[in-house]
Amino acid sequence: MTKNIAVIRGDGIGPEIVEQALRVLDKTAELYGHTFNYTDVDMGGCAIDKYGDPLPEKELQKCIDSDSVLLGAVGGDKWNDVPGHMRPEKGLLRLREGMGVYSNNRPAKIWQQLADASPLKKSIVDKGIDFIIVRELIGGIYFGEHKTEGDTATDVLKYSESEIERIGRIGFETAQKRNKRLCSVEKSNVLDSSRLWKKVMHSLAEEYPDVELSDMLVDNCAMQIVKNPSQFDVVVTENMFGDILSDEASMITGSIGMIPSSSLGATTCGLYEPIHGSAPDIAGKDLANPIGTILSAAMMLRFSFDMPKEADAIEDAVSAYLDAGYRTADIMSEGMTQVGCRKCGDIITENLKKE
Ligand code: NAD
Repeated sequence: MTKNIAVIRGDGIGPEIVEQALRVLDKTAELYGHTFNYTDVDMGGCAIDKYGDPLPEKELQKCIDSDSVLLGAVGGDKWNDVPGHMRPEKGLLRLREGMGVYSNNRPAKIWQQLADASPLKKSIVDKGIDFIIVRELIGGIYFGEHKTEGDTATDVLKYSESEIERIGRIGFETAQKRNKRLCSVEKSNVLDSSRLWKKVMHSLAEEYPDVELSDMLVDNCAMQIVKNPSQFDVVVTENMFGDILSDEASMITGSIGMIPSSSLGATTCGLYEPIHGSAPDIAGKDLANPIGTILSAAMMLRFSFDMPKEADAIEDAVSAYLDAGYRTADIMSEGMTQVGCRKCGDIITENLKKE
């Protein structure tokens, strides 16, 4: 199969981690007889420097025209003082909106080899951590009106029934493929948008009788994720709650550097990216963990290109790397062998085998 992948290296550690993921994709293509063509796309701070715009229209179009997009990360202190509409992160929001990817899927799964890297007590980790957060990605407060007048600033949080319904369906369908438990997270004791959210989820539940739906307030969910994460199978929630909860969930699995994500809309053209940012504190030092990006590439093969065997092969190669005791600095522990970003990519690429 031939696939055209738009590649956004971005800023900070972005170029280093994307490079490793591309090496893994190239080796996978070689083993399985595919051709992956890459088109470089400028987005974020590097695009501001080059074009004065975090995502020029022609760069966005390259993404829309591709079979899928692989993204490292964008942003950094250098661009902190640019006006809001020009910030690197604005490019990311425009990309998600332009591609129409309304469903962000973030797994929170602990690798048994990394159980000791979790900040949670062993007794909690031993019960297992394996859930998915399905986050609405192109609505809510991040996309509402933002304005500052005098000493008052306003951000609008708005959801329509149809926006809630389409992400709700992804939540139910994801649960159907797993352990059939869906937890809908909102703040219906305070927010109108959350009351509408809850109403739509419950009316959808009638169409998915095989899925057990539960409700949880977002503040309680934040607590339950650290107290008893094994209770969750699939969590579905709105944009900002999902943003915050998924960072929390990533940390209990050991490191933010390990977690991939996929964002999909109505077509198979998806956006795949690790959940962390551009980590300017470690950029250019060969310290970054590229596994979140490598696993994002595996998700691309699984969800957009219908290549499950190839995706399994990449995940197995990551598992073999961890089994052999290799660790980047973020997940380093006693008795393990510390490696840099590039070496991590070398070993995972070497581990790849055709099943
Ligand atoms: P961050 O995720 O970049 O970093 C948080 C901490 O985690 C840092 O200590 C960093 O060194 C560490 N870390 C992150 N990824 C790592 C990896 N792969 N390997 C090892 N350690 C890793 O969050 P931040 O510091 O709040 O943000 C830095 C910049 O990234 C900001 O400009 C922010 O706006 C941007 N950002 C971008 C995205 C994105 O591109 N999707 C997401 C979040 C933040």
